[in-house]
Formats: sequence, C-alpha cells, structure tokens
Amino acid sequence: MSIETLSQLTDAVAAPRLVIKVGSALLVGKDGAPRRAWLTLLVAEIAAARARGQDVIVVSSGAIALGARKLGLARGGRGSLADAQAAAAVGQIALAGLWAELLAAHGLIAAQVLLTLEDLEERRRYLNVTATLGTLLASGAVPVINENDTVATEEIRFGDNDRLAARVGQAAGASAVLLLSDIDGLYDRDPRLEGAVRVPVVRGVTPEIHAMATGGSSSGLGSGGMTSKLQAAEIAGLAGIALAIIDGRPDSPIAAALAEERGTLFCSPGKARARKAWLGGKLRMKGAVTVDAGAAAALARGSSLLAAGVTAVEGTFLRGDAIAVHGPDGTVLARGLSEYDAAECTALMGHPSAEHEALLGYAPRSALIHRDQLVML
Ligand code: GLU
Repeated sequence: MSIETLSQLTDAVAAPRLVIKVGSALLVGKDGAPRRAWLTLLVAEIAAARARGQDVIVVSSGAIALGARKLGLARGGRGSLADAQAAAAVGQIALAGLWAELLAAHGLIAAQVLLTLEDLEERRRYLNVTATLGTLLASGAVPVINENDTVATEEIRFGDNDRLAARVGQAAGASAVLLLSDIDGLYDRDPRLEGAVRVPVVRGVTPEIHAMATGGSSSGLGSGGMTSKLQAAEIAGLAGIALAIIDGRPDSPIAAALAEERGTLFCSPGKARARKAWLGGKLRMKGAVTVDAGAAAALARGSSLLAAGVTAVEGTFLRGDAIAVHGPDGTVLARGLSEYDAAECTALMGHPSAEHEALLGYAPRSALIHRDQLVML
C-alpha cells in the first residue's frame, strides 16, 4: 500500500513502521538545555503511535548541542570536528537518558543505537543493523538512534541526521520517515521571500525540486537544512519509502500536522520497483548461485532461497555481499544479499536445512538469501 497523504502516516496498515527524526533545534533550547516539556509531549505522540500498532524508530539529534553547553564549547560545539566529537560524547549520555526516562513513563523501553556511515554502507554490517533493529522492534522496544559522532571522522560521517534517518528507514524496512523540522515543509523558493508557497506533495526529487532548496539550517544548532532533507528523500524514495517534512515546533507536532496535511510528502515510486533498483542497479554482484527448478518456482512465489535448492556456487563472496541467482538454464532470476560466504554456500548446497547446523558447526541462518533481501528480475 503506497502512502499518498500525510494522514496515512498515522494508519498502522499503510504505515506499520515509522522512523521519526527529531532535529537539534527542537530538542535543545537556545540556552543549550533540553526542551523537556516539548519532548514530553512528543513522546506521548510516539506512545500513541505504538498503541495504534505502529513500530517507531527515533532518530535523535542533539548530542552535540547538549554536550557543548556542558563543556562550555563555543559555536554549539561545531567549531571543529574535535569539539563536535567531545561534545557528542558528553551530550549523548544526557540525550539517551532523557529519551529512556520519558519513554519509560509510557511503559516503553528505549534502546540506544549509535551508527556510523559504514555500518550502513557495508553489506554485512547493514544486515546486522537490519537484524538488530528487527529484534528490538519485535521485542517492543523503541530504538533511539544517533550518529556515533564521537568516533566518526570527517570522511566517514553522515554529518546530518536527515540522511541517517533515511538510511535507517531503508535498513529497518520502514514504511515512512518523518522529519520534524523547524519549517513546515519544502517551499517553491526561499520561504522568506514574498509569495513563497509550500509544496504539499513531491513525486520524484527532480533538478527543479533541488533548485527550490536554499540549504543551511535556520536555527544554527543542527547541520541539516533543506538540501540534506532532499537527499534523504532521494534515499528513501530509492528504497520505496515515503518521507515527510513537518513543522516540529508546535507542542504535540505530529497529530495536527498530519490531520491537516500540513507539510511536504515525498511519495515513493513503490516498494518492489525501488528495491529492484537498489539491489539490481546499485550493487556489483560478487558471485552467483545456480538453483534447481523447484527452488526457482519457490522464488517466483516469493519464498526465501534455501540452500537445498542450490546446485552450484561461483565467485568469492562474503556474508552480506550481493550475488546473482541463476535458474537451471543459466538465466538470471534474481539478485540478493547472501546470508553466508561462498565457502559456506558450497558446504550447504543441496542439503536440507535440518543438516545445516552439523555441516557448519554453528547455528544456521534461516535461508541462504532471505526474501527481504532478494529481488526478482
Ligand atoms: N548527530 C548530531 C547530534 O546528535 C546531529 C546531526 C544533525 O544535526 O543532523 O548532535
């Protein structure tokens, strides 16, 4: 079910899994202290979403801003990378503590996850993030994610939590990413200019859409701005995920903005096509497996690929690498991320799952390629 309106983001069927990104300027006041009253109301909205049956992942900024105040650093801790890293180390504890405390008031368990760019770029680590987030959500916890600013150096950092939120949405198989901003959406020109009009719905982030972004964050506390939000919308779109920008400044910002359709919704072209684009187009294949007719038929029905149906393994690939799946006649049927390395695939091929533990000497995965990590071509 594709998301066409903002109000669908409160619908547990249309949007079973939400990523909610909260920017620094919303979480931290001009005095450098947390905006506790506002956050308490936001957490009540998150608890309401959970009560409706929606999974919620929070991407929370604010570590640098909070830590800078405690350490007395100039420029909100953003004067240098070293300052930002030190500030984040101090601020992240306070930030996570605050989320944990406020979520606990609703009986919800907070789970801190600190990620770097490479955790999501590298396939094996990406799969691990996917698995961890899945387990946390299945256990009813609310993951509270931030970039691991203290260890992420300039070259390997996201730097803004907008794109991080989109990548997390991709890794977690979210339905939508909701960016709470200090503006109520994308405007067709600099919003300070007379006659600027908010764009309610965007279908495809075209060069014309990019031209509308003025860049720079108005608050000076965060590092986002509209440019990084558009990049986030592109990442989300490729993964088949809707992304919305709403104004986070009012108390209880989510319910009213969604009900009144006040924001900008970036619709995605649809899950299947987008996942195919991501796996089929973006990744180089590191190897291939050939399957028998039975496995080919099972894949066509939407099943995961089991080792029992594999007849040959080619290439040297690692767990998490993208591999091709060939049918009995050699045609490429699918592409997916392998749960095992090439040697393990060779050891397991042709063997029913019940034999895998003995063959491997450790607990096996449920499939050679899980259907969530597989696209039929
Ligand atoms: N990770 C940064 C922090 O916690 C925020 C990045 C951003 O402003 O988007 O302070």
